[in-house]
Amino acid sequence: MSNGKRMYLFGGFTFNRCRHSGEYLGWYCSNYHNGCKASVLTTRDYIPAHARHFHNHDKPYVHRASNGIYTVVKSERNTLLKRPVLR
Ligand SMILES: [Zn+2]
Repeated sequence: MSNGKRMYLFGGFTFNRCRHSGEYLGWYCSNYHNGCKASVLTTRDYIPAHARHFHNHDKPYVHRASNGIYTVVKSERNTLLKRPVLR
């Protein structure tokens, strides 16, 4: 059922998984392409291990539906994210 990008929700911000880094997973802010340098390293169990939590933008509005699907509403357009990974 997981045909979308995996997302990680941390501190109210959403992150895209980028790469494995040793025993950790590297996540980059969803606004990376807009110049945001924030990133999070988590364990393979999605426990945050290290965060560079300096965003250049406001938190997205994240709505959780009763079926567990998270919807991130951006100011420019609406974007549906497929089941972000939550710790
Ligand atoms: Zn950011």
